[in-house]
Amino acid sequence: MNNQLSIYIHIPFCEKKCSYCNFPSAAGENILFQPYFNALQKEIITTAEIQNKLSGKINVTSVFFGGGTPSSVPVKFLLKTLETLHENFSINNDAEISAECNPNSLTNKFADLILEAGVNRFSLGVQSLDDNELVKLGRLHNSKKAETAYKLLRDAGAKNISADLIYGIPEQTKESFKNNLKCIVKKWKPEHISIYSLSIEPGTPFHKWKKNKTKNWLWPDDDTVMNWFIYAEKYLSANSYPRYEISNFAKQGFESVHNTTYWDTTKNYIGFGAAAHSFCCITNGTPRRRFWNVKSIDKYIKKINAGEKHRFFSKQLNPKQQIGEKIYLGLRLTKGVKLIPEEEKLFEKEILQQIKLGLIKKNKNNNIALTKRGAQIANTVMAEFV
Ligand code: SF4
Repeated sequence: MNNQLSIYIHIPFCEKKCSYCNFPSAAGENILFQPYFNALQKEIITTAEIQNKLSGKINVTSVFFGGGTPSSVPVKFLLKTLETLHENFSINNDAEISAECNPNSLTNKFADLILEAGVNRFSLGVQSLDDNELVKLGRLHNSKKAETAYKLLRDAGAKNISADLIYGIPEQTKESFKNNLKCIVKKWKPEHISIYSLSIEPGTPFHKWKKNKTKNWLWPDDDTVMNWFIYAEKYLSANSYPRYEISNFAKQGFESVHNTTYWDTTKNYIGFGAAAHSFCCITNGTPRRRFWNVKSIDKYIKKINAGEKHRFFSKQLNPKQQIGEKIYLGLRLTKGVKLIPEEEKLFEKEILQQIKLGLIKKNKNNNIALTKRGAQIANTVMAEFV
C-alpha cells in the first residue's frame, strides 16, 4: 500500500428519515450515541495499529464525516473522534477535513467548535429552496432555515462550503430547479455545488408511493430530468462552476479531495463506523481489498466490543476486472482516466465502440473521458467496462 490514505467516518444518526433516503442511518436512536462513538474509537485505534505496522507512517490527505447527519449528534462526539484520529494517524497539515451538515440541526456552537478543531470544508444538505419540495422530500428544514445555516457557517469562518441540491423531485418544474440553482449561484456563492437526480430506492416511502400511485404527484420522467441536467451543466459552467465529476461542480481549486479518491483506484481510503466502505490493504502480505463494515448500528457496536469480525470482503478482482474498475470509476471524472497501452489493449473493442458512438473521447492528455453526451447516460457507458 502506498502511504497516502483518506478516512471516512460514518455517523449513522438523523433527526428523522427523509422520504427518499436509503442511506444507512437511523432516527430516534440517541441512546446509541455514546456506545456507538466508543466502538468507533476502538475501531480507529485497533485499525491504526495494524495500518501503521503495515505501511509505516501514513499521510492522511482527507477526512470526511458523513452520514447520516454528523451535525445531529452532540459536537463533543465528533471532536473526540477527530482527536482520536490525530493521535493514531498522521493527518497532513493541509488535509481536507469535511463534515456533512443538515440545516435543521446546525448550530453556532457546532460550527464554531468544529472549525476550531480543524474541519475546513462543509457539505450542506440544502436539497431545494422551494418549501413545498422540501416538505415532499420529508426534510425538516425550510428554505429560510437553509439560508440561515449557510450564513451561520460563513459567519463562523467557513471558507469552503458545498451546497447539495436534488432535482427531479415530484411536481418540481424546470423553473423551480432553475430558481434553486440561480439563488445558490448568485446569492450564496458557495465554493462547490453538488446536484443529484432523485433516485427512487426500494424500501423508501417514495418507492412505495410511486409504485402504489398513493400520491397524486407528477413524477418527472428520465428525459425531463436529463434535460435539467444539461441545463444545469451549462448554467453552472457559465458561472465559473465547471463540472469535475458527474454530479459535482466547483470553483477552481475547490474540487473535493476526499470524493476524488473514490474515483481514482490508485488511491486508498478506509471507512470507520457502521456500513462504512474501504479500499486499502488491511492484512500483511495481501493485495489491496474492497471491504465494508456491518450495516446495523447495534451489530457494529456488539461486534467491535466483542472483538468479532465486523468487516466483509469483496472477491479479489482478476487483472482485467481491475482495469475495468479503474475505467468505469475514472470515467466519472471530467478529466477522465489515463491508461497505459497494455491496459487500453484489454478494452480496445469497448473503447473504440464508445468513441464511435460519440460517448467517450480521448482528451488532450490522452486520457479517456466521457463526452457531454456520454455524461448524460454515464451509467450505461460505464457499464460497458464492468
Ligand atoms: S438527513 Fe440525509 S442521511 Fe438522514 S435521512 Fe435525510 S437524506 Fe438520509
